[in-house]
Amino acid sequence: MSSGILALSYLLGSISFIMGLKMLSHPDTARKGNLYAAMGMTLAIVATIFLYKDSDGNPLGNYAWIFTGLAIGTVLGNYAAKKVAMTAMPQMVSLFNGMGGACAAIISIVEFNHLIHMGKTFSDEPVMALVILAGLVIGTISFTGSMIAFGKLNGNINDKVLPGQQFINIGLMLVIVVLAVVMVGGYSTMDPTLLMYCILGVSVLYGVLFVMPIGGADMPVVISLLNSFTGIAAAFGGFLYDNSVMLTGGILVGSAGTVLTVLMCNAMNRSLVNVIVGSFGGGSTGGPTSASGGTYKEVSLTDAAVLMLYSKKVIIVPGYGLAVAQAQHICHELEKVLDHNGVEVKYAIHPVAGRMPGHMNVLLAEADVSYDKLMDMEEINPEFAHTDVVLVLGANDVVNPAAKSDPNSPIYGMPILDVEDASHVIVNKRSMKPGYAGIENELFFRPKTSMLFGDAKDALTKLVAEIKNMA
Ligand code: NDP
Repeated sequence: MSSGILALSYLLGSISFIMGLKMLSHPDTARKGNLYAAMGMTLAIVATIFLYKDSDGNPLGNYAWIFTGLAIGTVLGNYAAKKVAMTAMPQMVSLFNGMGGACAAIISIVEFNHLIHMGKTFSDEPVMALVILAGLVIGTISFTGSMIAFGKLNGNINDKVLPGQQFINIGLMLVIVVLAVVMVGGYSTMDPTLLMYCILGVSVLYGVLFVMPIGGADMPVVISLLNSFTGIAAAFGGFLYDNSVMLTGGILVGSAGTVLTVLMCNAMNRSLVNVIVGSFGGGSTGGPTSASGGTYKEVSLTDAAVLMLYSKKVIIVPGYGLAVAQAQHICHELEKVLDHNGVEVKYAIHPVAGRMPGHMNVLLAEADVSYDKLMDMEEINPEFAHTDVVLVLGANDVVNPAAKSDPNSPIYGMPILDVEDASHVIVNKRSMKPGYAGIENELFFRPKTSMLFGDAKDALTKLVAEIKNMA
């Protein structure tokens, strides 16, 4: 009876994950989707704790440990999620993703010890062995890689490329494969526990060295790849425990992460193989590249207001700085004022703008900007040539023409928003400092570009007031 209810709970949990994931694809339903998936996860956890029985009919037990862990996780997770600033969200996502990887690796270690205590070797149970090792390796790489990604996004760790980095990474991967074959095939007399910890150690090193050299603008691909690794590692855990809801959840995260990785690769014009061997972005040490040496011109708030008010069409390009300034609400206000005065306004969304996939969509949805006004890069790029004013708000790398014209630039080849095709480009930021990739932006020195210096929220508040006065 209880096993039937458990199976039903797992089925309901799996359905809620699928529904939740589907709903996450649109801002209107995303919040509810997240809630559905969380409810499914709660159901699966509670059902496992109270209804699970092993093959001898024994319940789970260890309730003090389980509830202590649950209580600590709930308090910490709740506190962190409530406290985190919107701009620190990408780091937190990396941290949480790393925790998932660590859990999968720990499951593998526990199951390995279980096997050893039953007096079995890996060669007695080759399928089980492969699953344990796959979970261990992928989970560990995901954990250490995510921790390095966390440090980089938080500004604590700089890119570091070792001489021959690609070969070191490929070498480490080969060491992992050879050790795994030796272990599963029973080709060594070495203590299996020691062998397992060697594999763990090399995986830790690989995770660190794999993410360490990823240069400036290239992090989004790695973040989504690590996300898919965690999903895959969790799916192996589900396989080990013969737990269908864990398997489904892992497969969903793994496949969604893989799809996102491919999309990010396309957006950055990079190949996945390059990412995996860690050569990608190598050479970009994050320092500013050669300055263009040109001069830039500034625009006053009044001139910017006039230009926009008397335009037919204005395109707003949001970037990371808009999130830093928390200027999404006043940005929406500007859109409404212009719209009210007969100016057509659209938003150009670059796939890697901000610091996490979909960052700008989430930010603008929070301010109730209509989803119809958000245009993807491919869709909006041909429209710039027929646009009077482009307002770049705290964006930098995603509008850097060096991606098209400078083969030495670390972002060369990355598709960008063709803002310079418009009649006027107004760039709002606080200074001439570079963006995340650490490179100078020639756009700021082009004849059609004018700089509107200041914090985005402050500048937009004044701009809106100015336009309202004029209209
Ligand atoms: P960038 O990081 O290139 O530029 C942001 C700009 O915002 C800075 O130049 C900064 O200039 C300005 N800024 C900061 N604070 C404010 C403020 N309060 N008001 C106004 N401006 C401000 O951002 P983009 O969105 O153009 O590009 C994203 C970059 O991040 C890409 O390189 C991408 O690859 C990378 N990345 C993206 C991830 C993703 O998943 N989306 C993940 C990890 C990295 P100043 O200091 O002068 O104000």
